Amino acid sequence: MLAPGSTIGILGGGQLARMMALAAAPLGFRVHILAPESDCPAADVSAFHLCADYTNEAALEQFAGGVDAVTYEFENVPLVAARILANRVPIWPDPHALAVSQDRLVEKQFLNRSGLATAPFEPIDHADQIPLALVRLGLPAILKTRRMGYDGKGQVLIRSADEAARAFAAIGQSPAVLEGFVSFQREISVIAARAISGQIACYDPAWNRHDDHILRQSLIPSGCGPEIESDALAKAKKIAEALNYVGVLGIEFFVTADGLLINEIAPRVHNSGHWTIDGCALSQFEQHIRCVAGWPLGPVIRHADAIMDNLIGDDVLNWAELAHDPTARLHLYAKGSPRPGRKMGHVTRLYPIGQRPE
Ligand code: AMP
Repeated sequence: MLAPGSTIGILGGGQLARMMALAAAPLGFRVHILAPESDCPAADVSAFHLCADYTNEAALEQFAGGVDAVTYEFENVPLVAARILANRVPIWPDPHALAVSQDRLVEKQFLNRSGLATAPFEPIDHADQIPLALVRLGLPAILKTRRMGYDGKGQVLIRSADEAARAFAAIGQSPAVLEGFVSFQREISVIAARAISGQIACYDPAWNRHDDHILRQSLIPSGCGPEIESDALAKAKKIAEALNYVGVLGIEFFVTADGLLINEIAPRVHNSGHWTIDGCALSQFEQHIRCVAGWPLGPVIRHADAIMDNLIGDDVLNWAELAHDPTARLHLYAKGSPRPGRKMGHVTRLYPIGQRPE
């Protein structure tokens, strides 16, 4: 267990790193961040910001020399950086979890091998593989780049076989997976945490509503009923165990008439877990810091129902109105001027258990 006064290094300087740094403080930890942007949300609340590229080896050596353990706020950290750091200092989750989640094909194969269902998919390396894959998967289907896709980026919907070449060009002719279109009833997610000891706990599932592929709102409880919820928790635990995972992990599910399919795993704190700051005894951010520090898990007990709304782009300009709203717990990320599609903050509203509006 790292003693209070130890320093935790975070790769990445966005809002997730910012909320991890804020959660590290009450446990007596200092936070250093490594991020290439000179001005970033986490820098304001961290003891030290090393402004360097993730592949700068001298910077990685310097960073490792100043921290007692390392974690990351995003899954697209270059693997080489995580591996260089891993030779010097404990790094959690293990870079293997990054390797799995950085590549949609590897991730889906890992999930299926672990006995967990995903949307049906076919690997695509050339546009001329698409028509045959469409025969198996049906129409419509979604072509997604294997790497570097998030918030719907690197994705195209294909409605007919004629669109194959155009769709492949639209994703930059990158290696891809073609996914069968899932007509889901709703999307839910589970935030799981696994300590170095192997202890696992999960927060209650959230129902997630998206706009234009970006998470707009999370509602807790998920409204899916106890059977689906306990299946989601069991599957989340299975994934954390199969990865020998340490830290907080977000798992996104499609709820279908035939049960749960896993859409994606995120080896980090997750946007659909932001409600835990206000709605639980201990937030996902503090939980993650506890895991990285080798501490036992804290409680995941929920003391309220919750609705979390992301403030996307100009939504944040309502900050003064929200400041006057006694029901709104406001979290702003200090990102400067809003841009369309950019997550600028979030608002959580709490309700007595059993009284969440739709
Ligand atoms: P992703 O980046 O893969 O999480 O996709 C972003 C969003 O696109 C998801 O949250 C879904 O709303 C939608 N989506 C992704 N894959 C599928 C699919 N196979 N079928 C239907 N909708 C999908």
